[in-house]
Amino acid sequence: MPSPIVDVLGLTHDEFLAAARAALPEGHGIASQLYRQALQCGGFDFSRLGTPVPATRQAQWQDSFRVGLLTPQRILEERGTLGATIKAVLATADGYRVETVLIPMRAHADGRLAASTQCLSTQVGCRMGCTFCETARLGLIRNLSAAEIVSQVVTARVRLGWRAKNLVFMGMGEPLDNWDALHQALRVLSDPHGLSYGQDRITICTSGHLAGIERLAKLGWKRLNLSISLTSADDETRSRLMPINRSAPLARLQQALLAYRPRRCFALGVNYCLLPGINDRREDAARVAAFCRPLGRCLVNVIPYNPGSQPLTRPPTDEEVDCFIGWLREEGLAVRRRITKGRSIMAACGQLGNSQRSRETAGV
Ligand code: SF4
Repeated sequence: MPSPIVDVLGLTHDEFLAAARAALPEGHGIASQLYRQALQCGGFDFSRLGTPVPATRQAQWQDSFRVGLLTPQRILEERGTLGATIKAVLATADGYRVETVLIPMRAHADGRLAASTQCLSTQVGCRMGCTFCETARLGLIRNLSAAEIVSQVVTARVRLGWRAKNLVFMGMGEPLDNWDALHQALRVLSDPHGLSYGQDRITICTSGHLAGIERLAKLGWKRLNLSISLTSADDETRSRLMPINRSAPLARLQQALLAYRPRRCFALGVNYCLLPGINDRREDAARVAAFCRPLGRCLVNVIPYNPGSQPLTRPPTDEEVDCFIGWLREEGLAVRRRITKGRSIMAACGQLGNSQRSRETAGV
């Protein structure tokens, strides 16, 4: 039986070198250059190695390794003051759709884009069932592999020209529910021989997956960023909105977060999806403050609700958002209003996954 073809995008540089040494005992000396090409250019280009590689040897490489790019299916854009928010729907080799979004974050004084963040998916669908989230409606279809997670970045660079400065795991799926693939993808994305993302450029966003938060803490990556989706600091309301709260209520989440202090200046991101009539009262703001107070530095991101295909409520007005932010500040919290980007193309927070209805419609 021939050995299966290994996807380079799921390997760190050292793992690829070891695999190359095993697969091609002679001629593996170019492995380091091929790794850089795969991660940065999305393929092997033997003509650019400086030394000629015989065709038979090239074929041996191609028979042993592949660079698993995803297939762009749809690209949707929404123009805003900072630039375009772009949603890419990418097809996996087995025909599922994965969504990734490029979000402009900062612009130079002359209007040129200074920094952007790419939002990555870790699963096709999600089993967490958050009621304000479109992805939840799919249920969990399957986990993405580490190579497929990394491929969202590589495919976007090579096929779409994206150059995201920051990465946030806040797309389809609960990242900590797919730990092995997430962990390996983090190792690959931060590998200095490949894409070389610094830990401080990466944020994991979780709905409150306790075992995953513990694993992250054990990882000991001091500069990695973490944010949680809080959305209510009242157990009854949060359990209704986010079923994970039934098995991991607020007190236990708070304990897990207290144990997660990777560095002295660490600021926990606390995402709060503002749902008019559900979690936008004065006492809701006070509860958020009570939850955050023991946790040290927190930055609360207030995210105006973005209705999906079956809206839970209406989006809040600007006045309602400002009012809630004012209450949080009165409580002494650091607060940032998340400017809504990509709502019209279903690319905003909580809106991903609407295009994934079936493998058949993926058209691959
Ligand atoms: S908000 Fe995140 S964790 Fe909750 S259902 Fe949606 S994708 Fe899953």
